[in-house]
Amino acid sequence: MTIELNQNYAKLPDSYLFSTINKKIASFQKEYPKADIIRLGIGDVVLPLVPGVIEALHEAVDEQAVRETFRGYGPEGGYDFLRQAIAEVEFQTNGINIQLDEVFISDGSKSDVANIQELFGQKISVAIGDPVYPVYIDSNVLSGRLGDFEAVTGKWSEAIYLVGNETNRFVPELPAKKADLIYLCYPNNPTGMTLTKDQLQLWVDYANDQGNVIIFDAAYEAYIQEDGIPHSIYECSGAQTCAIEMRSFSKKAGFTGLRLGYTVIPKALQINGQSLNKMWLRRQSTKFNGAPYIVQKAGAATLQEPAKSQIADNIQYYMENARIIREGLEASGITVFGGVNAPYLWMKVPNGLSSWEFFDQLLTRAQVVGTPGVGFGPSGEGYFRLTAFNIHEQTLAAVERIQSFLAVGLG
Ligand SMILES: *Cc1c(COP(=O)(O)O)cnc(C)c1O
Repeated sequence: MTIELNQNYAKLPDSYLFSTINKKIASFQKEYPKADIIRLGIGDVVLPLVPGVIEALHEAVDEQAVRETFRGYGPEGGYDFLRQAIAEVEFQTNGINIQLDEVFISDGSKSDVANIQELFGQKISVAIGDPVYPVYIDSNVLSGRLGDFEAVTGKWSEAIYLVGNETNRFVPELPAKKADLIYLCYPNNPTGMTLTKDQLQLWVDYANDQGNVIIFDAAYEAYIQEDGIPHSIYECSGAQTCAIEMRSFSKKAGFTGLRLGYTVIPKALQINGQSLNKMWLRRQSTKFNGAPYIVQKAGAATLQEPAKSQIADNIQYYMENARIIREGLEASGITVFGGVNAPYLWMKVPNGLSSWEFFDQLLTRAQVVGTPGVGFGPSGEGYFRLTAFNIHEQTLAAVERIQSFLAVGLG
């Protein structure tokens, strides 16, 4: 008798998007060792941490060297100095009433986005954007909620897909079926598209009406440039009784390696008298021992000067790359979405090629790497994601290469 395993792991198709991409790059590089490949495929920042953050890190490290200021385990929900700064700077100054004990500090949004489903019953229905950041689907597959993978359609039998396409400008319709838990990600990864406050209000009203919960992933909130685009779901009235919001320091402040994020759960979010805020505190204190003190100090520094302006400059740097890519592709006759309020560009693959066919051609003929849209869900087929996370020179060079490759014509 051998031990029984969680068979949901076996259900997840094993060819993970980025490992397939890396294998393809490695085999191309083996054949052409001199090829100079430019990567516009990564969802990771390239600029170093800003001086204001580095200074805070050094200070916090020095505190750890002295008995009087040394810190061991921190409070489970995060240090009050950070929770308070977030509540004030990110919410209260924007007229949103979020309090310290509604903010839970974590080691990044990926963990929170993947773990939050533990608060809900096994049999709930789950609605997820398509295309979207794959963690929402995969974490619910591992908990056994999404049924079986259907290779032909690329869909999970029990998942409700909120399809974003050109027709709806990547803002899905309200689900036709009962959807208990709804994942929304805006500004969106991978499409770079946003929704307006009025469009988000429709979801909030729907969730309150139906008794659903919305998980709002605002990882790219800091990249919003235009007015009228909500930075927080709590800008919508009634959101505190139906929505959980997640934010990250990763893409905003370059903390992808440091690791810091947070989840907001308003105390008003109660289901049959049970507080999700209390449940999450219990969940975190049972399974998580907090983000490092040093990193929380660095996080607090991002919310004030001088780091705040330094971070805003970095975001403008990436958004300039986004503009270069968008305008460059449009000049070549490509239909491209996003890149205005997000560091992602979502291009329509020309000539009816599949996303992977375009990936192969771009790699072998232009030595540029992007991400096949189908890796973000079945509705991503026929699209391709490029990111603004590179240095200007490389971004310009990549766009020039894509332009000459398109001018010669696709194979
Ligand atoms: C990068 C990303 C995250 C994860 O960020 P971490 O805080 O680094 O874990 C979450 N959601 C989306 C949509 C992302 O693109």
